[in-house]
Amino acid sequence: MSVEAVNSYFFNLFELSKALDFKTLVRSFIASYGYINPPISGKKVVEVLKSIMRLIENYHLSRNKFYNYVSDFFNNLQSISKIGSFILIDDLGLPTILYLSKKFLIKYHFFLLNPMGDTKTWKATTEVQTLSEAAKKYGMHLLKSPDKRVHYLELKMIKSEPLSIEQLIDYIHKNITLQVLRFIKDAERPTLIVSDHAYDVARVSNRFILCHGFGCLKYNMKPIFSKLSSILIIG
Ligand SMILES: [Zn+2]
Repeated sequence: MSVEAVNSYFFNLFELSKALDFKTLVRSFIASYGYINPPISGKKVVEVLKSIMRLIENYHLSRNKFYNYVSDFFNNLQSISKIGSFILIDDLGLPTILYLSKKFLIKYHFFLLNPMGDTKTWKATTEVQTLSEAAKKYGMHLLKSPDKRVHYLELKMIKSEPLSIEQLIDYIHKNITLQVLRFIKDAERPTLIVSDHAYDVARVSNRFILCHGFGCLKYNMKPIFSKLSSILIIG
């Protein structure tokens, strides 16, 4: 089992996602945790997501290996020619990744497993204190809002309830995915997109919230999909 195994599933996943609308993609994502029944048209996507989930749960990439993968990537950046723009996204979740594969041609993908599913672990690989510093160091445009929107739900929960499925789908669509799309829409192609981690969906008394890394432990779940750290080239 390896990081490569995780990546080979994504060819299939991207292909299957093309036929589905965003709502179905997010429902399938949520269904892969077993929280809800898979949508009829999303059954195959759910199967693939469950396979990826099992791989992530059974495969632990050490901090050292993760460090080596990411630092090798940045050390070899010069050898990647013909990149129009370079974007760093704090918290690129799976629904958005799948939506990107519908909207754009994914020319290259490589998903690493951030062992902790957090920004801190990723930052250590590039030896920076902040993501802004990493962006500056490698000439990347930084989008931080997806991570903020994920944490915002926790703050909101102090005052009100977690979200229903419909509210969650709507929240991800409006506040996260569309914001990412807007950010990269006019970026020069090919666009290289890198992210530190993704997010998970946690169930809180039959309602839902987003979390990543150690943050998920509060809701009695281990981080799964939030460990996905992306390297994508879109055309
Ligand atoms: Zn965060």
